[in-house]
Amino acid sequence: MIKKYSLKNNGNTYISQHFQVKEFASPDSDDIYIDDKTISFLEKLFEYIPEISYIIVSSGYRTPGYSISIGGYSNDYHTKGMAVDFCAFNKNNQPIGWKIITTTCQSLGINGIGKIDDNYVHIDSREYSTRWWGDEQSGAIIGNWFDYSGLTTKYEKGWTKDEKGFYYSPDGITYYKNCWVVINKHWYYFNKEGYAVDGLQKIDGKYYFFAIKGKWICSCMRTDENGILKEWIVEE
Ligand SMILES: [Zn+2]
Repeated sequence: MIKKYSLKNNGNTYISQHFQVKEFASPDSDDIYIDDKTISFLEKLFEYIPEISYIIVSSGYRTPGYSISIGGYSNDYHTKGMAVDFCAFNKNNQPIGWKIITTTCQSLGINGIGKIDDNYVHIDSREYSTRWWGDEQSGAIIGNWFDYSGLTTKYEKGWTKDEKGFYYSPDGITYYKNCWVVINKHWYYFNKEGYAVDGLQKIDGKYYFFAIKGKWICSCMRTDENGILKEWIVEE
């Protein structure tokens, strides 16, 4: 839903975990229009690309007059409050870059995606029927951002071990974190950093025991109704 805000009255209000109303203001207007859906896309990027530390919005809402003054259109998606141009940075203040952002946006089902330059990307909350994926520099229309960027996968699919533990990527693009997942008939719990926990753990007020067995496979135990610790296997 597109909502109207006032820069003066709501500028410092957080509209989501990471964004304040003022970040989406048009420089010539107190009125700011923002679509919830656009904001939720930005928040999903934080979720799906764990190395994002912060996102800088270069342009959100634009009045028709402002849009024309910077070479845009009087009726584009920015003027409706549905679009945002932004750059995502990691914790070392390095841009994440258009390749990871656009491919992730495609995976999230976003219908308006534009590559502005190597670091900045445009997204909007348009409907599928008007889908537009394009390179604003070259004018190319993009059919698949993975093909266009040459990016195939970011992580090894499946289990990977590093010095901190085991993590799991289901698709090569992201990895599990902060969740329970069944893999190969066993329950696993991934912590907020994305590592599978082991040993005795208290999760949501209950105790679980995760036993590392062999090189890759750890399984989850939980106590049954008699208080006896049993392997927690998912039946087929
Ligand atoms: Zn834009």
